[in-house]
Amino acid sequence: MSAATFVLAISLFVAFTFATAFGVASLYARSATSARWLAAGYGLGMLNPLLEILLPLQADPRPVQVGVALSLQYAAALGVIGLARHYRLSPPWRTMIGFAIAALWLNIAILDMPRGSVLRNVLYQLPYFVVHVLGVITILRFPRRQVLDNALVSLFALSAIQFLLKPIFAVSMGNGATARDYIGSTYAAVSQSVGSMLLIATGLLLLLIILRDVLAEITARSETDTLSGLLNRRGFEARAEQFVAYAVVVADLDHFKMVNDSYGHAAGDGVIGAFAEILQREAGAYTILGRMGGEEFVALLPLADADTAWCYAETVRQRFAALAMESIGHRSLSASLGVAVREGHEPLADLLRRADVALYEAKRAGRDRVCVARSSKQQTPSGASQEGFRNIA
Ligand code: GH3
Ligand code: MG
Ligand code: MG
Repeated sequence: MSAATFVLAISLFVAFTFATAFGVASLYARSATSARWLAAGYGLGMLNPLLEILLPLQADPRPVQVGVALSLQYAAALGVIGLARHYRLSPPWRTMIGFAIAALWLNIAILDMPRGSVLRNVLYQLPYFVVHVLGVITILRFPRRQVLDNALVSLFALSAIQFLLKPIFAVSMGNGATARDYIGSTYAAVSQSVGSMLLIATGLLLLLIILRDVLAEITARSETDTLSGLLNRRGFEARAEQFVAYAVVVADLDHFKMVNDSYGHAAGDGVIGAFAEILQREAGAYTILGRMGGEEFVALLPLADADTAWCYAETVRQRFAALAMESIGHRSLSASLGVAVREGHEPLADLLRRADVALYEAKRAGRDRVCVARSSKQQTPSGASQEGFRNIA
């Protein structure tokens, strides 16, 4: 048994392992549709070492020769479609169909060319090169690439370069006098070893990327409130930790129980959604919005002072008051809001408590208004620390 045959047996096992891994991943993470394409790619790729091992046993190796090349070239094409799916890009269907037809034609056309010719070797490697360049282009189309995505680009580029260099080594080292002699050549051992290493590296990197993105999706889902589309308390608190100087606006819808009681829970849900929409529409690009539960909301405005935060709160209040929703008989609605600016390294819980006290004051003063919490350090004449309010209806 030649060295190349050993490596091919390893590649067969590696391809089987990754086909299984991606297949299992696609069952566990249904959102990872790319895993299905990658499982198909590695599954089809298993044919390549299998046919390569069987080739020397054929009386006429020509059909198997075409099968060897096409199985790996089409497997890589399935991988490129999987990549496009993963990065939520439209798969380049037309290019892929064109590639499949051209590769089929080319692999048949070179069958009768002399094995030692540079042209034949270049044409043999061309589809491999092209499909890896398509992989590079696909990943580069994704604008929010991170370290792992860029590593994958490099790996695909490295693979593409390797296919460009292969003809030089094939011709200089000799790739067997006939197709059946290939497996026993030193070139085959080197070529198959490099291929196997790239197969393992690419498979592992793809698995890591899928794992990373599935985890990110699960985290995002666990931090999002489904009704309003805003962050939930957990998500809001996690984001808030990243800021140093900011103001918060807390909001509570007025007489919301009445909305539920008079028009039903679904209509109430509609009002919660409408309020969240106003919060979003009026917010700046860096504002963090959350629904803390029920009909209570919070906005974090980075670097905002009391005036800026108040302006935002007041605009939201006015927009909500002007809303006329059909589902609640065009009845007018209102919300009360509290504003507080973070002082030094004040814990988020303390800041929210001050904002809540301001909100409570807005409720007490008649609702449908914005109150700003004064500094926590402000002292009353008697010396006791007490919240104060700027009440603006
Ligand atoms: P106030 O002006 O004092 O705030 O009066 P309120 O009626 O709004 O009082 P409160 O804040 O205590 O009422 C909150 C109500 O919100 C009670 C609950 O039934 C309702 N609620 C909480 N979560 C949801 C939800 O997800 N959907 C709907 N439709 N209602 C909810
Ligand atoms: Mg309320
Ligand atoms: Mg409430």
